[in-house]
Amino acid sequence: MSEMLTGGNPAQGVPTPPTQDDPSGRKWTWEEDGCTVIRSNARSGPGCHDNCGVLMYVRDGVLEKIEGDPENPYNQGRLCPRCLAFKEMLYHEDRLKYPMKRAKEDRGKNAFERITWDEAYDIIEREMKAVIERYGNEAIWVTQGTGRDINGYGPLMAQYLGTPNYGTGFLSGQACYAPRIFSTALKAGGLFVCDYAQFFPDRYDDPRWEAPEYILVWGNNPVVANSDGTLGHWIVESMKRGSKLMVMDPKLTWVAGKADVWFQVRPGTDAALALALCNVIIEEGLEDKEFVSCWCYGFDEFAEHVKKYTPAFAAETCGVPEDLIVEAARKIGRAKSCCLQWGVAMDHTSEGFITGMACFDLMALTGNFEKPGTMVAANPVWDMSVTWMPREKVWEGCSEPVKDQGRTMNFKYPALKAMAAISPDMLLEAMETGEPYPIKAMFMMQNNAIACMGAQPQRILPALQKMEFNVVVDLFLTPTALACADVLLPAACFAERIGITGHQPYALG
Ligand code: SF4
Repeated sequence: MSEMLTGGNPAQGVPTPPTQDDPSGRKWTWEEDGCTVIRSNARSGPGCHDNCGVLMYVRDGVLEKIEGDPENPYNQGRLCPRCLAFKEMLYHEDRLKYPMKRAKEDRGKNAFERITWDEAYDIIEREMKAVIERYGNEAIWVTQGTGRDINGYGPLMAQYLGTPNYGTGFLSGQACYAPRIFSTALKAGGLFVCDYAQFFPDRYDDPRWEAPEYILVWGNNPVVANSDGTLGHWIVESMKRGSKLMVMDPKLTWVAGKADVWFQVRPGTDAALALALCNVIIEEGLEDKEFVSCWCYGFDEFAEHVKKYTPAFAAETCGVPEDLIVEAARKIGRAKSCCLQWGVAMDHTSEGFITGMACFDLMALTGNFEKPGTMVAANPVWDMSVTWMPREKVWEGCSEPVKDQGRTMNFKYPALKAMAAISPDMLLEAMETGEPYPIKAMFMMQNNAIACMGAQPQRILPALQKMEFNVVVDLFLTPTALACADVLLPAACFAERIGITGHQPYALG
């Protein structure tokens, strides 16, 4: 159970690896130059959306160095500086190492007292049961941040506690990744991503793959940021094999500097650009007529709708040259293949959702789906949903099934159902007002809401301190943990535990 909650015990160092090799015959572990080499997958500490293969070189139970696993098709031996510098985090003197408790009246003070795991579990069990008894299971909120190593466990914890309220908090409007996920989920029933041969074990050498003719990099700095299931290396590898770039970014990033077309748009205006590209493609008859007639609904209405979003309109709105818009639309319309590499910059604008929809329409209009080098469906591994849960199986198998799924804290915002996540805005209101029902206990995993994702700490801090019981699991004593934890558990990261890790929904390790 301790591994379920916290991912292991950082006080115990790197665990003994399992002895069996993986199904493809790659060895889990071997001896090399006096070190035990352990093959694993990274995803945490300090937090990342990817799932790169790593080789950990361990001497006498201490991690000596970490390198990319050349046999892992996802990253093919490469690592970014976060994992290369991983030891700094792993052995940082401020890491939490032991379970601790604190009296409720001392919230906000560094007055924690070390306790045993058994005592921690007893307190958690007693307090959670008391909240359930008084207010119902849905009064418990299970939350996570971007310390993503625990993604597989948060939803399970919510299930075991019988609450429908699981999700990030307090990311107002779910303004990170969700707008892109929703755009594709609502329009096409799933997540579609650019085809970088990531679904082939031998990657770029697979004869079924062709490099995209154009990669449309939209509000994304992939070579630097490496996020949301894309490694910047993949774009560079595609470029080496002929892919050309179109980049939509107010900044001259590395990829913008290498692009055929660079749209230096005014921030937050790019929906107009996407619609103007659609306008030109339809005006000039460059849409993929067969794809549109077989797979798209509402083309005539859409064509009518985009008539007013002319290149002249977009040029004035976005601050980019009109002829550049026309030139880019023709390139996209005539390309053999094109895919969209979109980023979080889109999500962080109030127009992120509709911009995502417009970009997705641009890909559909030009038939850039399910062909080599286009947008491909990222089918969930083992039918994992975007909340990293096997959709049906886990729900059925849980010992404490959710009492009332209709009570999920998202019913004012039905689109959030596409992500099976709660609305952070509704949740905060409920914590403050008790409406539509009270939220009284929190189980928080690696979420530093006050200092990071929460846009309104002046509301979040009193709301957290008003709760009847808070458990926080984290790597460090964060401002959020200091503000509100009654029980504070040390999180372990991938080098310290055996478990599952993965990028939703298509890469597991
Ligand atoms: S992308 Fe993530 S998993 Fe990959 S090397 Fe960087 S931090 Fe590690």
